[in-house]
Amino acid sequence: MADCLFCNIIAGKIPASVVYRDADCIGFDDIHPAAPVHVLFVPKRHIDGVSTLTEADRETAGQLLLAAATYARSKGLEAAGYRVLANVGAGAGQTVFHLHVHLLGGKHLRGRGD
Ligand code: 5GP
Ligand code: ZN
Repeated sequence: MADCLFCNIIAGKIPASVVYRDADCIGFDDIHPAAPVHVLFVPKRHIDGVSTLTEADRETAGQLLLAAATYARSKGLEAAGYRVLANVGAGAGQTVFHLHVHLLGGKHLRGRGD
């Protein structure tokens, strides 16, 4: 989508610190990190968000989680623990309407909010 920030990052039209790539997804550093590791994983194909997922997106949704897990494993984040989350809808803090999960790690994460 031409006016989508993450589609433009995927297309290389807007710069980002890309730390992960596979056939279906990319991961790049969040511009306002909330933890020492804060990577956004996004599918290359535009989907608005979790709330608009359909059966046709089953594989893409799985690949997105797998991308986050693969990156976390490669960075040795498992021992200390890390968080994978998605904000769904403006009321929950979603600001970019291209499906993404946040990977947060590299510091002690307390319960739910933190
Ligand atoms: P959301 O609030 O939709 O769950 O997450 C969107 C995230 O995108 C936010 O954490 C925000 O800091 C990040 N973000 C917004 N604009 C940019 C940008 O231009 N580049 C990068 N790398 N991250 C961005
Ligand atoms: Zn998009």
